[in-house]
Amino acid sequence: MMNLGIYVQVPFCQTKCTYCNFHTGVVSLGRFAPYVEAVCREIRGHRELYRAAGIELPAEFGSAIVDTVYFGGGTPSLLEPELLGRMIGAIRQSFSNEFIEVTLEADPETVTAEKAEAWVAARINRVSFGVQSFSDQELAATGRMHRRGDIYRAAGILRQAGIRNISFDLIAGLPFQTAESWRESLGELGKLGPEHVSVYVLEVDEGSRLGLEILESGTRYSAGAVPSDDAMADFYEAACAFLGDLGYHHYEISNWAKPGSESHHNLKYWRRESYLGFGAGAHSFSGSQRWANAHDAAAYVGAIETGRLPVEQLETVTPESALEEELFLGLRQLDGINVGRIEKKYGVGLGKRFEALEAAGLVERRGNVVRLAPARLSVSNEVFVELMR
Ligand code: SF4
Repeated sequence: MMNLGIYVQVPFCQTKCTYCNFHTGVVSLGRFAPYVEAVCREIRGHRELYRAAGIELPAEFGSAIVDTVYFGGGTPSLLEPELLGRMIGAIRQSFSNEFIEVTLEADPETVTAEKAEAWVAARINRVSFGVQSFSDQELAATGRMHRRGDIYRAAGILRQAGIRNISFDLIAGLPFQTAESWRESLGELGKLGPEHVSVYVLEVDEGSRLGLEILESGTRYSAGAVPSDDAMADFYEAACAFLGDLGYHHYEISNWAKPGSESHHNLKYWRRESYLGFGAGAHSFSGSQRWANAHDAAAYVGAIETGRLPVEQLETVTPESALEEELFLGLRQLDGINVGRIEKKYGVGLGKRFEALEAAGLVERRGNVVRLAPARLSVSNEVFVELMR
């Protein structure tokens, strides 16, 4: 029997944060219900829609049990709970299910007691908060809608409603962030004691307004106040030490959990287990194929309304790319990879690929297990670049 994860993309936000490189948009509230209706149609009709789009689900999907659901975005907590409930209802009608984890990404300022109660009633049992920082200056500079006070208020409401599994996201590298403000954000997080923490280092690329400005030396989005790469690496290392001292298990490069609160859903991505993504821009992996829906929400809704799934990328996973994924995704997990198992599965020898990395102290090898060197996690990108040469 196969366990299956379902991801639902809600690509709407109240504003666009300056560092955001996701395909999300600010739309009128009237667009929410038609979008949710399209997602429900995709969920209910996925088999026919996939067939028409050239996607073949392996036989084991016939008996798959959905045990994790993840509403990501965007800001899914903007939706009325009734709309979220409709999508959960469509999943329950369309798949065998035994939910162990139903996650909702939420922005702190969108949380109300009424919504939190309705989320619990709809079987949402995990909330992932886009906290990013406890500094109002950093939040304001990046266009976030919430302020420090909203974080305490929202966390209290969720606990009151009975949500026992809360995750906080922090970003290392926001404009105006200093070693002191970073320590303070970590300290406040520690006081609130979420079950799970994700720490991301600011991504600088052309996909966000801030990233573009950093690359082109502009001034509008406070690019000049972004900490240096070395400072960001220091912040990440400070988080590793601080969260470790608090007893969090560092299980993936960017993720920590109190023991037993590791994200069941996200582990599926790193372990190459199957998941189906619904909604605009959602990605899916069946074990043999990967595909993504069209990013544009209006185009997605229009296509679904005419009975067509707008697939933008559909690729069959070759043995070569499966091997690369095993290495790249597997090494993100701090437990590392079992090289012997992978060599046997793919009929390859991997010793040479790790020799230089081991000599440079970037990875450690114990018997068959290779893992990123704990002291060099902040430069893990170097390892991946070397590994894929
Ligand atoms: S709330 Fe999240 S998804 Fe929305 S614009 Fe900000 S960073 Fe992007």
